[in-house]
Amino acid sequence: MELLGIGPPPDNFGDLALWALSAWGKIFLLDFVRYLIPAGLAFVILWGVLRRRLLHRRIQPTFPEAHHLRREFFYSLSSLTIFAAIGAVLTYAAINGWTGIYFGASEFGWAYWGGSLLVMVLLHDAWFYWTHRAMHHRRLFRLFHRAHHKSHNPSPWAAYAFAPPEAVVQGLFVPILAFLMPLHPSVIALFVLHQIIRNVLGHSGFEIFPRGTARHPVGRLITTHTHHDLHHSKVTGNYCLYFTWWDRWMGTLRDDYADTFDAVTSRSRHSDTENNNRTGTTSTVVTATPAP
Ligand SMILES: [Zn+2]
Ligand SMILES: [Zn+2]
Repeated sequence: MELLGIGPPPDNFGDLALWALSAWGKIFLLDFVRYLIPAGLAFVILWGVLRRRLLHRRIQPTFPEAHHLRREFFYSLSSLTIFAAIGAVLTYAAINGWTGIYFGASEFGWAYWGGSLLVMVLLHDAWFYWTHRAMHHRRLFRLFHRAHHKSHNPSPWAAYAFAPPEAVVQGLFVPILAFLMPLHPSVIALFVLHQIIRNVLGHSGFEIFPRGTARHPVGRLITTHTHHDLHHSKVTGNYCLYFTWWDRWMGTLRDDYADTFDAVTSRSRHSDTENNNRTGTTSTVVTATPAP
């Protein structure tokens, strides 16, 4: 049995250590590319090629200084080393048949294949909301989540900018689920791809959802880029990842969310005076404080 080009683990300890190192390296490289391409594309397109054309859709008026982007990138690299270590352990367990990971895509039928992807996204949405809220508790914030909130004005590179303890929390979702339900590796691959794309865009600093989304009967259930950007600039409220329903059910959706979204998406592309104010490069980092 082989997974991600990683063969069965050997029995003796010395070879096992080499196997683990090789598995870690392969998963790290795959994960790095999975982060680098979406974050790089969002950065080149939104912050480079279309920067001036989309200035009216800039959520915050300023851009962060380069050192903030470097910090986000290196924190994300640190998270990827942790994800790869968790991935190597999961691969070891999967190849040994200890998890629900199965290898024949049609083994449970294609309806299950598609359903499991949907369930995975919905459960991860709940996992993210509740772990995120917990990490905003004053006793946990500094250790787990303060590093992520150093980005008061985030960039696409902030997608995985977590302190190591938060990276462990975020990295544990897939292994926990893999022990609880049958999952095909292609479902896990699509899940992590969807996750990084939504995550990168949520930190992109530009709103590309159409005007009216935040009040539309369906659109209001989806987390727009303004939704997560507000979480970074204001620190409290808007804890959701993909959908807004946990925030709505728990009363944590920010009161200024829909108004801010409307304000960002109502600006005219041709208002030069207003948009010229959005070209400045200013450090806007504030000291993040935990929720009361
Ligand atoms: Zn937060
Ligand atoms: Zn964030």
